[in-house]
Amino acid sequence: MTDVFGDLVGQDEAVAMLRRAAASAAALLRAPVTAPAGGHDDLDALAEEYDGDPAPAPADPGAGMTHAWIFTGPPGSGRSVAARAFAAALECVHGTGCGTCPGCHTTLTGTHADVRLVVPEGLSIGVNEMRVLVLRAASAPSGGRWQIVIIEDADRLTEAAGNALLKAIEEPPPRTVFLLCAPSTHPDDISVTIRSRCRVVPLRQPPPAAVAEVLVRRDGIAPDVAEWAAAAAQGHVGRARRLARDPEARQRRDAVLAVPRRLTGVGAAFDAASALIEAAEAEAAASVAEIDEAERRALQTALGAGGTGRGAAGAMRGAAGQLKDLEKRQKSRATRAQRDALDRALVDLAGFYRDALTMAWRAPVAPVHTDTASLAGAGAQKWDAEGSLRRLEAVLECRAAIEANVKPRIAVEAMMLALWRG
Ligand SMILES: [Zn+2]
Repeated sequence: MTDVFGDLVGQDEAVAMLRRAAASAAALLRAPVTAPAGGHDDLDALAEEYDGDPAPAPADPGAGMTHAWIFTGPPGSGRSVAARAFAAALECVHGTGCGTCPGCHTTLTGTHADVRLVVPEGLSIGVNEMRVLVLRAASAPSGGRWQIVIIEDADRLTEAAGNALLKAIEEPPPRTVFLLCAPSTHPDDISVTIRSRCRVVPLRQPPPAAVAEVLVRRDGIAPDVAEWAAAAAQGHVGRARRLARDPEARQRRDAVLAVPRRLTGVGAAFDAASALIEAAEAEAAASVAEIDEAERRALQTALGAGGTGRGAAGAMRGAAGQLKDLEKRQKSRATRAQRDALDRALVDLAGFYRDALTMAWRAPVAPVHTDTASLAGAGAQKWDAEGSLRRLEAVLECRAAIEANVKPRIAVEAMMLALWRG
């Protein structure tokens, strides 16, 4: 029997915290509201009344419910899975996240009327999108429980969007809950003021054994494949599942892991850089092609039908403007997809040099890439620990440079030269 938290791999502490909060939230909804007319049926007031009731009050004051949360953890640790599971538990008619009631089911399938999910497609979440969202989130929950806004990759909020969100979090509408996901609570990821208003749910990188276990149990993947994929994905649950199931993902990984062997000279280094960039571009183009085309067709249909439903202002902006907007959004999404694909490749490559380093040190740890372990062993002999470490650092510097907006091709070429020279 698994409830909504069943997919959170290796996160026992976070799950315990969220279960307590969901129970508190359910108790808040059950608590009789004795506020005077026009009074304060918002969350804080309910919480005060609730805390004043000695019978069902939670023993741990931190166990209670609050209206703003940040889920942090490395990519693949399950930030958005945790946020969705918690949202389901809040909307669950039993207040537990049973996983089977209509509240749980519609939240998990993304059709619950009171749960809004923001998944940034471009490089950042803009202020207009955020204003619309905050406005809609302020309405009363149609299902009588909570209005929930989940923001994936809250680190991609623009400053203006962050300010719009902050205003909502500072003066929370009654019964509205914000669930933010971000890599960390570092000020680069989330503003200090937003952070100070939220409760943090830290997630850790799940151990490979826990990832393998869930691949076998939930996805029916053979144990040996699951173990290999869990190690190769370095704690990233979604990546592990893709590697186990998608032959193309495996081929792309093989091509990346062939890079160290191919670096035989300057020309080869530039060739390897081109191949890596082009593979990332092709992967990204394939991943967005379908949705791009669907959006274009939907817009053309709307324009052909006279733009009904877009309102007078929309009609006045004209077809050209709308098409331009769409192209801009799609370009931003394509750039993001390319960077994500390239980053996955760099993480694989970093894993290889990390293996060489641990072997040079004779550290008693399992290799990330079991299938290239002998190649990494040969590298360890040739480069020694120091040379392996320099190469690992070159890969990590390349990731950092791309994150800091260095042109990917330039960063990757510099990395390949460093990997060849050592
Ligand atoms: Zn339920």
